[in-house]
Amino acid sequence: MSKRNIRIAFFDTKPHDRRFFDEANRSEQFGFDLIYYETRLAPGSARMAEGADVVCAFINDDLNASTIQQLARLKVRLVAMRCAGFSNVAVETADELNLPVVRVPAYSPFAVAEYTLGLLLTLNRHIHRAFNRVRENIFSISGLIGFDLHGKTVGIVGTGKIGLQFARLLQGFGVRILAYDPFPNKKAAQELGMDYVPLEWLLTESDVISLHCPLLRENVGLIRAETLEKMKDGVILLNTSRGRLIRTGDLIGALESGKVGSVGIDVYEEESNYFFEDPADRAMEEDLLARLMAFPNVIVSSHQAFFTQETLRHVAETTLKNVHDFVTKQEMPHAVGIHGVKALPVRNYVRAF
Ligand code: NAD
Repeated sequence: MSKRNIRIAFFDTKPHDRRFFDEANRSEQFGFDLIYYETRLAPGSARMAEGADVVCAFINDDLNASTIQQLARLKVRLVAMRCAGFSNVAVETADELNLPVVRVPAYSPFAVAEYTLGLLLTLNRHIHRAFNRVRENIFSISGLIGFDLHGKTVGIVGTGKIGLQFARLLQGFGVRILAYDPFPNKKAAQELGMDYVPLEWLLTESDVISLHCPLLRENVGLIRAETLEKMKDGVILLNTSRGRLIRTGDLIGALESGKVGSVGIDVYEEESNYFFEDPADRAMEEDLLARLMAFPNVIVSSHQAFFTQETLRHVAETTLKNVHDFVTKQEMPHAVGIHGVKALPVRNYVRAF
């Protein structure tokens, strides 16, 4: 079967998806028939996949058992997730129906690490406030005193791909780096002059704390009243990992008391879609978010740390390569479920990226 005849139906697409997938699809090895829907994939929209050989979905699509059953009935042959996480996919049902699921297991760590550094420098020197003031013709710099990073201590929680890249970026600043990870990377520690210490020590000693660990059942609420209490007064807290690592209500208390100096978070909302089954809980959470955003020393962004041209290109190329491997009956290194990789370790994540 020619690749031109392989139809991939994309759900929940935005203009940038079209741009990067169309570009990647021009490569000689691909050339699939791509069809884009803005609609999210869910039980109610699954019938839109009629005629498609492959369905390509994203983090907010709902590939529950009913969706998967409908896709199998429509003779869809492959589900290609254009993200790493697949907790929104009923993999067991897909297994039973012999419908393989593939994903993009890893992204470039540079995008997220660089974004985290951007948050740090913005907060530390109040650049976001200066930007607003000058636009209003206010040229006073009072209240905008920052501090040198040089000589300070930065604590990195989680030294995987992104945490280590963040440590590399910090090399030029003359900071002391403390790290905590249940699986320390001793070689990297030596190279980067980074000291692994117990979490409590890191919390107590750091002027800046940046979270780069996945969300696991055991670290939901890692940052809460009890751990905030241990931190230095005026600490800068950064989270580009997962929203639920921080108990927001407790963080607001620490901001009000001045315990926490400033906060930069890129993750918050989407995890709540996963956790909150009760709309009343959700309303309360949205109220917390509004309160958080009201602080001038808090920057909230909407999960955009990954959002660079390089990442989007990589996601598009890897996804199309996954489809190519499937169509040409090669091994599928990025399968989750029947055709290979065991999903278990990743499923332990409450929601991977
Ligand atoms: P990774 O798997 O390479 O590294 C994670 C590290 O965290 C591992 O070394 C692991 O041992 C460690 N870890 C596990 N539990 C821990 C704990 N309780 N305390 C400290 N460390 C712990 O992952 P990565 O690619 O570096 O990604 C890190 C995080 O960034 C993930 O949560 C991911 O979801 C998030 N992420 C966010 C964006 C974004 O756009 N904001 C994009 C990509 C990834």
